[in-house]
Amino acid sequence: MPGPAGDGGAASAGRDDAHKGADVPRDADAVLDAEFFLRWMDALARAVDREAARLTELDAAIGDADHGANMRRGFAAVTAALGKDAPDTPGAVLMLTGRRLISTVGGASGPLYGTLLRRAGKALGDEAAVSRAQLAEALRAGTAAVARLGGAKAGDKTMLDALEPAAAALEESFAAARQAAEDGAAATVPMLARKGRASYLGERSIGHRDPGAASSALLIGTLEETAR
Ligand code: ADP
Ligand code: MG
Repeated sequence: MPGPAGDGGAASAGRDDAHKGADVPRDADAVLDAEFFLRWMDALARAVDREAARLTELDAAIGDADHGANMRRGFAAVTAALGKDAPDTPGAVLMLTGRRLISTVGGASGPLYGTLLRRAGKALGDEAAVSRAQLAEALRAGTAAVARLGGAKAGDKTMLDALEPAAAALEESFAAARQAAEDGAAATVPMLARKGRASYLGERSIGHRDPGAASSALLIGTLEETAR
């Protein structure tokens, strides 16, 4: 076992040793600054662009075939806004993103995602950098605001079915959050839609993945990618 002598990091050696063998996730102390959030939103905009046809196809089955177009329009506006005048705190990045989504997306998903990100951004305050635990707490607050706005709860076959478990799992790790979002989106397939356009279909909504849950899996998937 190498001793602390000569490793040039004597100040932190004790702490590293204390963590050795302990069940501490590698990203436990991640410090997420504005630059991280800008990279996340950029990765998300590119994922939405890449997956727009699939999101629209999902919405064609149980909605009005515009979810991909809605998300693409919204995130193109977000990319333009963040590129023009990049905010310098995590909270401000999320709040600007949310505002742009609300003003550019006509469908239900615009105000819902806008509320999620504005509320999460507000929860992060004006700190220059935040921890993963703080982001998890902020996403919980944002998810609760989405539930209040849309009157939906877990099991209603909406974006909440991916967002709620992901926000909870983010307490553990980025990877757990991604897995929870993907599992949550997959779990919407056998559900009966109780909110949004898909609810008009009643029983015929069963057997299809909810488009908003699919886009929420992109939101959380790109978060995990950005943190790698
Ligand atoms: P629209 O339904 O207006 O065409 P989109 O197609 O862009 O809007 O988004 C549809 C998605 O929005 C759904 O798949 C669902 O996840 C989400 N959604 C719709 N209504 C609600 C609601 N009341 N609460 C939570 N999410 C909802
Ligand atoms: Mg739609």
